[in-house]
Amino acid sequence: MSAYNYIHHYHDVLIVGAGGAGLRAAVAASEGGASVACLSKVPPTRSHTVAAQGGINAALGNREADDWHWHMYDTIRGSDWLGDQDAIAFMCEQAPGAIIELEQMGMPFTRDENGLIYQRAYGGQKTQYGKGGQAYRACAVADRTGHSLLHTLYSQALRHKVEFYIEYVALDLLMDEHNNCLGLVAWHIETGDLHIFHAHTTILATGGYGQVYASTTASTICTGDGNAMCLRAGIALQDMEFIQFHPTGLYGSGILITEGARGEGAILKNAHGERFMERYAPDSKELASRDVISRAMMQEIHGGRGCGKNADHLYLFLDHLPPGLIESKLPAIREITSTFARIDISRDPIPVLPAVHYTMGGIPCNSQSQVLTVDGKGNEHTVPGLVAIGEASCTSVHGANRLGCNGLLELVVFGKAAGQQAANHKQTRHKPLSDATLEPAMTRFDSLRHKNGATRPRQLRKELQQVMQHGASIFRNQALLDNAERQLRLIWNAYQADLKISDKSLIWNNDLMEALETDNLLRQAVVTAVSAKERKESRGAHWRDDYPVRNDKDWLKHSLGFVDDNGHVHMQYRAVRMAGLEPKTQAVLSFPPEERAY
Ligand SMILES: Cc1cc2nc3c(=O)[nH]c(=O)nc-3n(C[C@H](O)[C@H](O)[C@H](O)COP(=O)(O)OP(=O)(O)OC[C@H]3O[C@@H](n4cnc5c(N)ncnc54)[C@H](O)[C@@H]3O)c2cc1C
Repeated sequence: MSAYNYIHHYHDVLIVGAGGAGLRAAVAASEGGASVACLSKVPPTRSHTVAAQGGINAALGNREADDWHWHMYDTIRGSDWLGDQDAIAFMCEQAPGAIIELEQMGMPFTRDENGLIYQRAYGGQKTQYGKGGQAYRACAVADRTGHSLLHTLYSQALRHKVEFYIEYVALDLLMDEHNNCLGLVAWHIETGDLHIFHAHTTILATGGYGQVYASTTASTICTGDGNAMCLRAGIALQDMEFIQFHPTGLYGSGILITEGARGEGAILKNAHGERFMERYAPDSKELASRDVISRAMMQEIHGGRGCGKNADHLYLFLDHLPPGLIESKLPAIREITSTFARIDISRDPIPVLPAVHYTMGGIPCNSQSQVLTVDGKGNEHTVPGLVAIGEASCTSVHGANRLGCNGLLELVVFGKAAGQQAANHKQTRHKPLSDATLEPAMTRFDSLRHKNGATRPRQLRKELQQVMQHGASIFRNQALLDNAERQLRLIWNAYQADLKISDKSLIWNNDLMEALETDNLLRQAVVTAVSAKERKESRGAHWRDDYPVRNDKDWLKHSLGFVDDNGHVHMQYRAVRMAGLEPKTQAVLSFPPEERAY
């Protein structure tokens, strides 16, 4: 596209995203001797990882005896058996070492009375393969764990001379005719320049797409840009129907109230003052899995037992907890509720309602984080030069439902491994880039800039969020999902035919930024709705009123959703990897499906 001048950069490893996953990979690749570029559309320390509160899991056993095999079992049970067991085994086995590494990098973990790393209780985690007592596995920095993690890793990345490209927006992958990824093209919003990054390995660490919903704990930047780049490159996204609702979003704003609060003893009550979780999960109560609690809360509200004048939320009580505990373990929750709800948690309950929190689906990967694609005959291939990590990826360690505190763990374990592998794949020369490789990305960008219809991108973004909030929510059925798909089609058509971009410049053009993100959200919304419509069973976070039972015979498989440029979705499926390896002995480890009760 001759209308634009490009600035070229050549690196061994290109990382898109400076959240926990991207930064951990950057440090590892750089330690491995690679030249590393790290792109971020916001300053690195504003990546969504900064908002993580509760903790990061590892079977350190500092409080009660623990074992990474129990952690593995809990993760598989939490995933409702959809998680890939080889990747889960790797993550859980690596976890204790990963925490010690973070500590040695300077992460200021909260300590117990013996000076060991403090570990709190989190939902869905037990000892003895689910048969023992509550596990204490979540290592935390008070309730600001993500903030500490991100700042620690950013300091390390600066120390390792990673080259940061900040406020660069990745537009599209550059794929050659053999489906190799050669790098990508990005727009620098500060100067308006376009940049081409050539790399031997491109690592997507672009985070989740929680912004597909209206009520979410995810930041406004969580638009799944890397996922959408894959869709445009003809790569399907996996398990997109699995959307995690966090039980305790602050009523009204959806701001997260960490599960760590319940881990420290907070309890949920309905309008009758009843601790209703005793009925739904008699054993684990408020520490059941997130999908189980979110559904229970909605059933309370639908049953007329909601709190407040509209009976549309529930209460989380912390007033029985010792003030010293709140000071040392939950200071941010005290601050958030005081600022945003004018509540004193030592006295008042917190009004809460489930909010979208985590997107289990994403870019399909094997346990080495290499991106996978499937051809028309159903054969699986890796995409040379392309790797995905963090919330953008579907490796899949979370399957149908993520356990709290396994998200941050995934970032550092797979981030490190991906960075190391990328450093090992250094080559001497970059593959040449043809005009044909660049053309699709730039045609899309250029035509978007000149859209001159009547509808602002912001309006379409809001509409699609509402459609998903109502049509593909905690409880789903065929009619709701059919309707969501129809409405998304109208939004798709409006985007194609009637979009208006008023600002024609390339410098700080928020209008264009919004249009790019809305395009990304729309593609993922359509795949999410269709994947949910096609999966005719209930598993983990995907609940169908019309198919309320898990059906392993027909549905113990990953969904793959492709979308074409007209918004039509095509589904394929791939097998779940049901076994992992014991690292020391290479013995096979496998947990076959069981009934999932808490
Ligand atoms: C409020 C909240 C609390 C949480 N608490 C916990 C917790 O306590 N424990 C836990 O385990 N998990 C928690 N999670 C989940 C976990 O924090 C996230 O899954 C994780 O931080 C995602 O990290 P990431 O590195 O994949 O992406 P992110 O941190 O989201 O970073 C994405 C990066 O990609 C960049 N990027 C995106 N698109 C582009 C583009 N087009 N061009 C250039 N750059 C781009 C962004 O600038 C950013 O740097 C929480 C999540 C939320 C929302």
